[in-house]
Amino acid sequence: MNVLVLNAGSSSLKYQLFNMQTGEVSAKGVCDRVGTTEALHVYEAGEVEQEEQLSLLNHLEAIKAAVAALTHPHHGVIQDLSEINAIGHRVVHGGDYFVESVVIDDEVIARIEECVGLAPLHNPAGLAGIRACVELMEGTPQVAVFDTSFHQTMPAKAYRYPLPTKYFEDLKIRRYGFHGTSHRYVAQRAAEFLGKPVEDLRLITCHLGNGCSIAAINKGKSVDTSMGFTPLDGLMMGTRTGSIDPAILLYLEDYQGMSAEDINKLLNKESGLLGVSELSNDLRDVGTAAKDGNEKAQLAIDMYAYYAKRFIGSYTFAMGAVDAIVFTAGVGENAVDMRQMMLEGLEEQGIIIDAELNAKRGGDRSISADESAVKVLVIPTNEELMIAQDVKSLVGS
Ligand code: AMP
Repeated sequence: MNVLVLNAGSSSLKYQLFNMQTGEVSAKGVCDRVGTTEALHVYEAGEVEQEEQLSLLNHLEAIKAAVAALTHPHHGVIQDLSEINAIGHRVVHGGDYFVESVVIDDEVIARIEECVGLAPLHNPAGLAGIRACVELMEGTPQVAVFDTSFHQTMPAKAYRYPLPTKYFEDLKIRRYGFHGTSHRYVAQRAAEFLGKPVEDLRLITCHLGNGCSIAAINKGKSVDTSMGFTPLDGLMMGTRTGSIDPAILLYLEDYQGMSAEDINKLLNKESGLLGVSELSNDLRDVGTAAKDGNEKAQLAIDMYAYYAKRFIGSYTFAMGAVDAIVFTAGVGENAVDMRQMMLEGLEEQGIIIDAELNAKRGGDRSISADESAVKVLVIPTNEELMIAQDVKSLVGS
């Protein structure tokens, strides 16, 4: 079974073709600057790697470019589209409609459309990808996998904001949570790694990349997560503030005359590691500067670690205890010092990192000391594989 996984962003399209017999990726690619006449398409299959600059005015054209590469007589990996048995789409927002991945039909498309207001940059791209596939591969089963659906198991006390109830009922303002596919994937892998059913575990999964979120996963179900109504909530990130006192926004508006657009840019694009360090949103650059004695960079790093530690602590209490803490994504998988800082001084809580194990690279691994009551794991995330597996389990037969 060949499953094509598509991740359509506002101006990009990432794709991977999975051979589900082997679980291997046969080919993959990225189209950047979709919507322009100067898009870039990078395609990889085995030893082949090629780049082409071309005009891709919309997602339909990007998917046509992907399909042309996949079926190319020389570097393609399939002969024609009939060899794609099913398609999986990453869809950012499923609102409160979708608690799991679903086979796409007209009703599902209508529901995703209803959620556009909740994710105005992302859901239109997801829909464009779905519609393009309907046009190009009519009759091929398509599955939607939502970033939000895994967190639909949160109890109301975790997902409601203390606003008047009508704001929840009329406007659907609540915590949704994001990165759900990644949290779900690493939770499953962690359980496999520990050799225990996920139902027997209390996990805290830390997805730390450009965007960051932490989830409390009790018995395999998300019971709380740091991102909220939007992916701005929660942790300090590369360029995002995470949670700040909401009255700051009123102050900026009233006393500094900032517009909603200015504030949106400030909170999403100019803050976080970049804003505090005044250097970069990339932890590697900020870390280098901090080692060279740059105080703003050091403070940015200290704050980043501290925000995460706070969430890890509060989720431990929320679940009563924690069996394993799991790090994933760019920072979580690679930033040795940052993992150490986030869990520093927690020996009394039974959380002890082994410095040597922490410094090692590799795939799924434990970095906690033998005497640590809480396991600390690093599990590289693989959202595309999770999507492909969902597709297989929904339409594989
Ligand atoms: P992601 O969004 O998951 O691709 O993560 C991207 C972020 O991971 C980058 O902005 C870097 O800050 C961070 N990152 C990647 N590699 C390293 C590394 N070796 N050390 C520290 N941070 C890293």
